[in-house]
Amino acid sequence: MKPIYIPEPFRIKSVEPLRILTREEREQKIAEANYNVFSLAARDVCIDLLTDSGTGAMSTAQWAGVMMGDESYAGADCYYKVQQAAKKIFGLPHVQLVHQGRAAEKVLLPILLEGKKYAIANMHFDTTRAHVELAGARAIDCVVPEALDTTAYFDFKGNMDCEKLEAYIRDLGAENIGVIIMTITNNSAGGQPVSVENIRRTREIAHRYGIKFMIDAARFAENSYFVKQREPKFKDSSIAEIVRATFEDADCFAMSSKKDAIVNMGGLIGCRDKNIFELVKQRTISFEGFITYGGMSGRDIEALAQGLIEGIDENYLKYRIGQMEYLAARLEEGGIPFQSPVGGHAVFVDAKKLLPHIPYYEFPAQALAVELYREAGIRACDIGSFMLGNDPETGKQLEADFEFTRLAIPRRVYTQSHLDVIADALINIKERADEIKGYKIVEEPPILRHFTAKLRPL
Ligand SMILES: *Cc1c(COP(=O)(O)O)cnc(C)c1O
Repeated sequence: MKPIYIPEPFRIKSVEPLRILTREEREQKIAEANYNVFSLAARDVCIDLLTDSGTGAMSTAQWAGVMMGDESYAGADCYYKVQQAAKKIFGLPHVQLVHQGRAAEKVLLPILLEGKKYAIANMHFDTTRAHVELAGARAIDCVVPEALDTTAYFDFKGNMDCEKLEAYIRDLGAENIGVIIMTITNNSAGGQPVSVENIRRTREIAHRYGIKFMIDAARFAENSYFVKQREPKFKDSSIAEIVRATFEDADCFAMSSKKDAIVNMGGLIGCRDKNIFELVKQRTISFEGFITYGGMSGRDIEALAQGLIEGIDENYLKYRIGQMEYLAARLEEGGIPFQSPVGGHAVFVDAKKLLPHIPYYEFPAQALAVELYREAGIRACDIGSFMLGNDPETGKQLEADFEFTRLAIPRRVYTQSHLDVIADALINIKERADEIKGYKIVEEPPILRHFTAKLRPL
């Protein structure tokens, strides 16, 4: 793979200066942050790859929308606009605004999991897992085995393992499973795509056993671009058509609008069943606000209505996925191991391979994230055992399938030279990899601990 950069299909109209610290200053800042990158002040970060969530740059049309946003409590103009855009794009008859993806999970999952014991997904994202557990159920992951081999090529490493899914359903009892979730793209497996064929097969299995089928839709547009590239049946389809095929017959979806809808805040719930939608509306009113704004301000709703449309533009998606492929090609040249082929929103560096001397319980991916900050002021994060946390029953540290340091790329924010800085930093770190030490946790909360835990180098 040769590094080829697809030019930005936009030009820059407004800029935000970056602060550049010295290595000594960075050493001090990361120690003060207890070696948890979530505790760093953003102003002390040069290239912020912590997440692609809510960090995208809005377009001129979106900023114009911010001025147009109708802030009426009930029935604002922007409410009708976003309803129209979302129903057209996803094809589900009922959509509800909420303030972000986990709010969608908080509202929807307890409805689906009422009286049930399990949720099964290709892979649960961390907040989805947390909301399954808060609803009193257990979250089971069922991704294809190809996802576990980070170097082998496979078109759709995000797919559900359908045979294993059926075995789980038979073992656990269909009546105990509240929902089968398809996360697109599969974030925790490295932003890996799921084929439309696999989505259809999973949905058919769910429905055959009378189980609800839900899509965790945060990166529905990036997934659809991969489908166009890799699933021959869809090579001549538009992104809009692929999105419709993806959501066809899904019972519901939960979505963070902070990813592919390119807004800084927002979420959506979609459902087909009128009775479920009634419950969704009731819970939205208690947790989020009245149904026509659902925890969002009118200006943000207006920007979302526009972002939904810009997010499925094929030229934008070509550039967007092109950035990942460029960075991946540079890392490949430099001999840095990563989840390959690269996913849609991030490069997942394989810290288990880069730092083989650090065991999972000393958090190699976290160690690499700290090192990237020291090296070049880059903020990345652990998607591995540090994020996975402890077994809810035994309290013991779980071993994750992967130890990834995630370089999430914000949408329309960084340029080719920023990507080069990232690649060069990793190549420098590789040179001295055997000197890098693991970490231990000295303080942690019981749930979603990676956001606030304090660490010390060993
Ligand atoms: C981001 C994300 C969520 C949660 O959304 P927030 O807006 O961060 O609350 C859920 N699922 C997936 C796959 C995500 O990427």
